[in-house]
Amino acid sequence: MKKNLEHSKLYQSEGVRLLYNNSLPGILITFVASSALAFTFIDEKNFNCKLAWWAVMTLILVSRVFDTRMWLKSSAENKTSKSWLMRFSCGCLLSAAMWSLYAVIFYPHFSIEELSTTNVILAAMAGGATSILSGNLLLASFYNIIILMPMSILLLMQPEQYKINLGGLGVCFTLIMIVSSARSSKYIKEAILLRYRNKNLVSRMEETIRVRTREVYEISNKDSLTGLYNRSAFLLAAQVVEQEFKNQKNAGFAIFFIDLDGFKNINDTLGHNVGDRVLVALSDRLKTFIDSENLICRWGGDEFILLVKDKSSDAISDLADKIVTSLSRPIRVDEQNVTLNATIGISVCPEHESSITRLIQLADIAMYSQKGKYPERVAFYNLGLERDLHRKIMLSEALKSALDRHEFRLVYQPIVDTRGQVVSFEALMRWRYQEQEISPVEFIPLMEQSGRIVQTGHWVLEEACKTLAQMNKRNAGICMCVNISLIQFYDKGFVNNVNRLIERYAIPGHLLHLEVTESIFQSDQMMINQKVNQLQQRGVKFSVDDFGTGYSSLSVIQNMNIDYIKIDRSFIQNIELKGLSIVQAMMNISRSLNFSVIAEGVETDKQRQLLEECGIPFLQGYYFSRPLERQNALVYLENALHPVVNGL
Ligand code: C2E
Ligand code: CA
Ligand code: CA
Repeated sequence: MKKNLEHSKLYQSEGVRLLYNNSLPGILITFVASSALAFTFIDEKNFNCKLAWWAVMTLILVSRVFDTRMWLKSSAENKTSKSWLMRFSCGCLLSAAMWSLYAVIFYPHFSIEELSTTNVILAAMAGGATSILSGNLLLASFYNIIILMPMSILLLMQPEQYKINLGGLGVCFTLIMIVSSARSSKYIKEAILLRYRNKNLVSRMEETIRVRTREVYEISNKDSLTGLYNRSAFLLAAQVVEQEFKNQKNAGFAIFFIDLDGFKNINDTLGHNVGDRVLVALSDRLKTFIDSENLICRWGGDEFILLVKDKSSDAISDLADKIVTSLSRPIRVDEQNVTLNATIGISVCPEHESSITRLIQLADIAMYSQKGKYPERVAFYNLGLERDLHRKIMLSEALKSALDRHEFRLVYQPIVDTRGQVVSFEALMRWRYQEQEISPVEFIPLMEQSGRIVQTGHWVLEEACKTLAQMNKRNAGICMCVNISLIQFYDKGFVNNVNRLIERYAIPGHLLHLEVTESIFQSDQMMINQKVNQLQQRGVKFSVDDFGTGYSSLSVIQNMNIDYIKIDRSFIQNIELKGLSIVQAMMNISRSLNFSVIAEGVETDKQRQLLEECGIPFLQGYYFSRPLERQNALVYLENALHPVVNGL
């Protein structure tokens, strides 16, 4: 029912369109026919009347032409309104009425020729109307009735039989025309409906295509988790910016390589679900920094890339700082706060490069070089960074097989007491790679990053224990200090390995001193304490290396039962200036907290003297000896003036 109503409304509105579209040919035919009829049979008697009739008819037709013109100019949504139907119908029916008027008024003076011509024309007009007015059945029917019936009735009332026949024929013709109008309007109705359905189908198809296209675009261009550009879409968009630069349409741009610090930890400890939500939250924050000038993408994992078209270095630094601040704000996930930080590396076009892929690489290098160097978290690329990185990569690769290729060895630096007697040696690693000595300052961090330090550290311990055993055969009581990385503590077998070495080389535990840095106090305190205690029970001693450079609080040292601190050599080098008071303070604290002190990096007699005055019991440094090859260390010990009785 509702559908029928909808369809008839559609027929009505589309019908109006059809009527007006057919309007001009109909008007033209009417004009030609009316002019031909009026002027063919015009004579002096009816001249004025016919001329008047023709003038009125022409006036109606002209106004219909204007009406059609107005319809053509009206807006699309207005074109099908009911008022147009009314206007069209009025004009049309008036024309029909004029035809009837002609037949009725001029009938008394009709010659047989004019009568038949008039009939033929009226029949033709009625016939034409069935198709031209098929857009509205009611109008077509009325048009037919008005144009044919008056003449037919008039003829039926005439005495002559042929006229009566003609009248009857007219009535029949009217009925036939109405039936044929009904048929063609039905056909038109169906055609309109079909067109409407097709149109609907097409627009629905278009909508589906639009949705699908958008979906395909999203899938292929957006990162599904964060909704940011993905790698390939970003590269395409960035290449456009690169091209614009080459065509001098922009003055350059900057690439930010943003990497989250500590994201892996969150994934590992709180799970991937929380990790995902953290990424989404941080991406939302990053989105607030994008405008029409910037592009942003998730490069992968916890890495993001931002392209900024403004390349003034102040603006860039400012933006980078803002991003770092924004990303370091706590994120609320499942009733808990998660805090991350970010490091940003920046490269600038054209200062550093103009190819987008290379700029990304350079920004990555800058980010990587800055990683972990707090508190500064933003770095601009420079040439030195790339050289550093290449060297790092090259050395890391070489380190993989350095142990197997026997490229490592240990050297030993003596530690003396205030009387100058050797009490201990510190084992220091050396790496000879391609005829060059690489500093442990450079290669130890690389081994820590790759985790290789665990295996190599074990080798160091074994080598040091071997030497210690050998030294103790002649000089009982000599100690050996071995540097231990924090990562070695995390190795499950660490305590067992140390114990096994002590047993294998039959070393009294207290002769082995393990040096750890202050970073140990910021790590898993329970686990570290436990392992330190286990080893201390075997007699092993612990020293805090580079003391004073980190953040360790003295109370933590006390809790951990540390045996020695090694005052960092920067204080010793400074001892003639400010360093003395600091060294004195450390010495005092050590007395009250019951641990002993070693000063490292003693290079001059003056330094030795001042340290002695402070009461520092143990000294190490180039002044006494540089680190010695194993054999030389043994000789050094042999030649030492006074044999050691009681070591460190
Ligand atoms: P460290 O533990 O502080 O070792 C002392 C460093 O100071 C050594 O440098 C030593 O040669 C140097 N040194 C000694 N006396 C003086 C002096 O009077 N003046 C100056 N300027 N320097 C002096 P080296 O051998 O280059 O070792 C550097 C760092 O590498 C070590 O610092 C230690 O942190 C690390 N390292 C060395 N061997 C190992 C190892 O087997 N395992 C671990 N985990 N780290 C090691
Ligand atoms: Ca050390
Ligand atoms: Ca040190």
